[in-house]
Amino acid sequence: MTKTNIPEKGAIIQRNLETFSISPHIPGGFADPALLRKIADVAEKYGAKFIKLTGAQRIAIIGIKEDDLDKAWAEFTDRSKAIGLTIRSIQICPGTRACKKAKQDSPGLGFALDKVFYGKPAPAKFKMGVSGCANCCSDSWMKDIGFFGTETGFTVVAGGKGGGTAKIGRVLAEDLTEDQAVALARKIIGFYREQGKFPERLGATIELVGFDAFVQAVK
Ligand code: SF4
Repeated sequence: MTKTNIPEKGAIIQRNLETFSISPHIPGGFADPALLRKIADVAEKYGAKFIKLTGAQRIAIIGIKEDDLDKAWAEFTDRSKAIGLTIRSIQICPGTRACKKAKQDSPGLGFALDKVFYGKPAPAKFKMGVSGCANCCSDSWMKDIGFFGTETGFTVVAGGKGGGTAKIGRVLAEDLTEDQAVALARKIIGFYREQGKFPERLGATIELVGFDAFVQAVK
């Protein structure tokens, strides 16, 4: 039988249709040395073909056999997974914790969003990006929900996406605190769960409903 992705095991089938990749949860790509060593150890122990940094700021261990998936995941303390129809890994820039251009603490907001939403269900894949300033190094304009810092708080944009039919989001709110930004994300995701239908991304749902009606629903 042809093998396919195994969402409940966070396993993505590889081109050889035999082995899988897994990507441990690394919120915003902020990894400590112990986690990096663990990833290297797991890759070696289970004969991974290679390790790959992903666009979602994770580290994919590529080439794990199906029989080893559970054992490989058991090696990690945090076993949360997000593939398929879920809220994916949130892209986060260093913000005020490291970048001299930052206006806001993007890791603070990003980690708060990660805690509430990572791996939770959505009508289709759902991406968020948090940037500490308008340079938007976390591709905030091309996420289902994007955030970027200004002198006066976070600006929130919604409805963007990357991929083959890229779309730029639209500004939904400005000057929000971290808590207000999380609360708005909760409303937007609630709206999408009610109104969105696979495979449409949030931007397509907003187009169908109309931007003004969407704003009415979430603010
Ligand atoms: S978005 Fe701004 S704060 Fe974040 S890394 Fe880029 S320049 Fe720095």
